[in-house]
This record gives sequence, structure tokens and C-alpha cells, in this order.
Amino acid sequence: MTHAERRAALEAIAAEVRVCTRCRLHQSRTNAVPGEGHPDTEVVFVGEGPGFNEDRLGRPFVGRAGDLLVKLLASIDWRRDEVFITNVVKCRPPDNRDPQPDEIAACQPYLRRQLEALDPALVVTLGRHSMGRFMPGARISDAHGTVRRVDPATGARDASVYALYHPAAALRTPAIERASYEDIAGIPPALEAWRARRARAGEAQAPDPVAAMAAAVTPDERAADLRQPAATAVALATTIETPPVAAPAPDALRVPMPAVDPDDQLGLF
Ligand code: SF4
Repeated sequence: MTHAERRAALEAIAAEVRVCTRCRLHQSRTNAVPGEGHPDTEVVFVGEGPGFNEDRLGRPFVGRAGDLLVKLLASIDWRRDEVFITNVVKCRPPDNRDPQPDEIAACQPYLRRQLEALDPALVVTLGRHSMGRFMPGARISDAHGTVRRVDPATGARDASVYALYHPAAALRTPAIERASYEDIAGIPPALEAWRARRARAGEAQAPDPVAAMAAAVTPDERAADLRQPAATAVALATTIETPPVAAPAPDALRVPMPAVDPDDQLGLF
């Protein structure tokens, strides 16, 4: 998918979310909160659902929990506009109650389509409801700071998932806040590891250059090739050899993110 196609897909999903009436949460919302961020990012943060401030402004993580998320990101030299941030349910549950299973199920197609469009290498879950979608059966007290492969049925075709506590829980409990800073430090290496894995998988799926060249040769050319001396064949094989891929620096903790163009920010209009 090109940048323009990805941006258009995300905007189309956001437009549907803003007028959605699939579940009862539409009755009490002020604004739906589709999500926002960089359309070319490799990292998607998924929270539970909008709170009071998010409902008022139509943006994810803009209250005190959002401020802490920004600080956590800053601790690894990342900014929120370098990633994409969304929620499992896009409308605020009344009185900040937990989203109900039928509400999560009704909203699930939007998150799946966002992940299909973004094709992230890493999904970061914030809190147990989000973690439950990507690490079924896991307990947040055990799973925080750990990484697993994402089920492609979630929409993330080839991604790993990394679990964090919800920033709101970190605001309530200093020990969870300390753990959150320790956990988020593991995100850049997790991204780099999955990025390298995806690169290797891409190379494995790339067409064999020797086979592609052989297929492009006409029968007459193939007959002529068979008459060429062995030295010519060696020279040919040398010319089409693919260059080695540079291994990532082992101590690179700061993962380079896509350059940010303010016009490319979604959800800020
Ligand atoms: S929570 Fe999701 S499914 Fe329910 S009304 Fe909002 S956008 Fe629609």
C-alpha cells in the first residue's frame, strides 16, 4: 500500500467511526475517537477506550494519562506523532466503566482495518483490555514488558505485540509507574528485532534472480547460452549475485523513525 493509499484508508475508517452507531456507546459519546498518528509508522499503541478528555476533544490519550504516555515515549527518545495511537473501543464507556464484550466485538472491525492499513511491525498494548485482544489469556502482571507474535487475524499481518500497563494505572500506583519506565525501554529493541525478521522474510519471498533471468531468456538465447564456455556462466552468476544486507548495529537503542511531516498527521483536524 502506498503512503497515499494508507492515508486514505485511515481517513475513511475515521470518517465511519465518527458517525458509527453499531453499539450502545454511541448514545452517550460527545465525540468518537478514531485514533491519530503517523500513517507510515511501524508502531501502533492500542489503549482501552476514550476517557472524559478524549471524548470531549475526539483525540486519544490527551488527559493526564496521555501526558504520562508522552513522558514514557520521551524516555526512549520517541514522540507521539511518530507512532499511531488508538483504542479497542472508539467511544467512551459511561463513567469510565470497562467496555463490555459486545461493545468490543462491535468495534473490533475498525481496529482490524486500521492495523491492516498500517501494517505495523510492533503493536504496543496499554492495559489489560487491549492486551486481551492480542495476548489472549495472559495476565497483565505477568505479561507486561514481554513480547509475542501477533495473530494475523487481528489485522496486523506480520507483527509482534509488546504489553505495557495502562498509563492511568501508572498514575495511581508509583510501583506501576516505575515498571512502565522499565518496560518501555524494551520497545526499541523489540521493534528492531521484528523489523529485522520482516526484512529476512521479505528477502526469502523475493523472486530468485537466477530463476527470473532464466525465465526471461528465449529458447534461442537459451540454446546459445548452452554453447557458451563455463567461464561465461561464472561471470554471469557473479553479476547477478545480490549484495549482503547490513546487520543492524547491536547497540542501537534509538530506532530511527519516519520523518514527520505535519501535514501527514491524521486525526488532528
Ligand atoms: S464504540 Fe465502536 S462500535 Fe460502538 S458506536 Fe463507537 S465506533 Fe461504533
